[in-house]
Amino acid sequence: MRRSLTRSNLHFKNAIRRLPAGVASNFRCWGEELTVYAARAKGARLWDIDGNEYIDYRLGYGPTILGYAHPEVDAAAREGIEMGGIMALSTEREFAVADRIAKMVGVADLVRFACSGTEAVMAALRLARAYAGKTHHIMVEGGFHGLSDGVLWQAKVEHMEDGTGEPEYAAEGTGIPGMLQDYVHYVPLNDSDALEEVLREYGNKIGAFLIEPILGNAGSITAEIDYLKKARALCDEHGVVLIFDEVKTGFRVARGGVQELMGVEADLCTFAKAIGNGYPISAFAGREEIMRLIKPGGVAQGGTYAAHPVPLAAADKTLQILDETDTLEKIAAHGTRLQEGMTQILSRRSVPHVFTGHPSMGGLFFLEEVPTNYRDWATSDYTLYNELALELNDMGILCEPDSREPWFISAAHDDATLTETLEKFETALDIVLDRQAKA
Ligand code: PMP
Repeated sequence: MRRSLTRSNLHFKNAIRRLPAGVASNFRCWGEELTVYAARAKGARLWDIDGNEYIDYRLGYGPTILGYAHPEVDAAAREGIEMGGIMALSTEREFAVADRIAKMVGVADLVRFACSGTEAVMAALRLARAYAGKTHHIMVEGGFHGLSDGVLWQAKVEHMEDGTGEPEYAAEGTGIPGMLQDYVHYVPLNDSDALEEVLREYGNKIGAFLIEPILGNAGSITAEIDYLKKARALCDEHGVVLIFDEVKTGFRVARGGVQELMGVEADLCTFAKAIGNGYPISAFAGREEIMRLIKPGGVAQGGTYAAHPVPLAAADKTLQILDETDTLEKIAAHGTRLQEGMTQILSRRSVPHVFTGHPSMGGLFFLEEVPTNYRDWATSDYTLYNELALELNDMGILCEPDSREPWFISAAHDDATLTETLEKFETALDIVLDRQAKA
């Protein structure tokens, strides 16, 4: 059965009177006809205000790793509420959670908390500049690091459909001081020569290399381990702080994140999303020598809501579950089964495709070969992907209608959700392929 978005469409018209673009975050605006307003969620399922039920693979852009309304996490959050609210004084639990993170993540000698991925990256970058004594930073094409001015710069590759040309580099939207672009250098993923070249030319100005080793905002295109090792060595050689933005991969692709998965350590790393199963908390962590620069009169970091007792208690419980049970292995196994099922369906119809990233946050590309950097995304058949995604949305499978967002799996995705997803995937694919054949 196809969904109706009558009430969401009506609400959009109403909401836009008081909320720019009718939403609270630009990423949630999918236009007048397709913007979904959520009513509630439980486990792996979500319901919108029209009563449509979805199996959710967005998971709020990744956080809900244990499933929505997780009883143990919510009970912990309630304990946080009982403490009375934000007192803007540190609590004992901060140490407990930092200590657990330190044990899970190799490089996390010390930990600081914030409220969003944006804040964690902003703080890590400032800290890196302070430590290195240099103000520029390198970003990877296709990377996303939140909404602060210093990192809200993007490589535009849409025009590179035939794989040739160069990206255009620009701020995401208006209002960002153009002079900040002077501080940013870009490299394509998996090209250590390009990285070396930038470092040779500007290494005396560059304080940080900021990278998502799995590009969680570019279809989970993944760094090769050898590339990361080379990047690690080049950063050491040029006095550059290596920052892994693990906002999406942290506590998801392995207990110790991408650093454990790939066996390469950063100097600093950032976490958000999965850390609190969706409660608003983030963290950044790293080598003691660097982290100790944060102090009164040193590197500024903090805020009224940092380590708020409610999300902190939720993070305490979420991390305990992820650390002490086989949840992450189960999530990965489920993601693998989903991909195997999709492959069978796509192969029967001879649709070339590849998967990228980690099964718990896999990307699906309509391409012959595994993409190695964001430029390759432009050569994929993302129109087919977008049409398929919209068809799936209509049938109750909620994936992002943009191929650059991975499919996130939670512990609540079970066999029933897998079977239903694959059935709908097959139907949706046939509808789209039929339509394309007739066009
Ligand atoms: N870094 C990465 C890798 C992200 O994916 C995101 C958000 N999608 C951010 C930073 C920003 O996080 P937040 O939305 O919590 O500010």
